[in-house]
Amino acid sequence: MYCQKCGKEVSDQAVICVSCGSELSSQRRAMTNSDSSAFGFGVLGFFVPLAGIILGIMWNTDRPNRAHAALIGAIIGIVASVVLVILCYVLAFSIPLLFMFMEL
Ligand SMILES: [Zn+2]
Repeated sequence: MYCQKCGKEVSDQAVICVSCGSELSSQRRAMTNSDSSAFGFGVLGFFVPLAGIILGIMWNTDRPNRAHAALIGAIIGIVASVVLVILCYVLAFSIPLLFMFMEL
């Protein structure tokens, strides 16, 4: 991780920053808190797949939980809409055929 005060790279297990001496445990807590609302972004990705993909790429490094959720939501959303479109096509083609057979 990186120290939020001076920006220097520090060990993930470090308690204080070796460069500026600031406490890192509180910084780490704040970071995990800001990454906790992943589910909401998964839902966003599902309904707006493009936004999910963009956010997933943007947050890939600093907010991995949200990025993952947004990307998974986007993939599920895309798959669901493709299935829906195929289903509509199948119905649109099969219903007129059904009526044609009934009239014969
Ligand atoms: Zn520092």
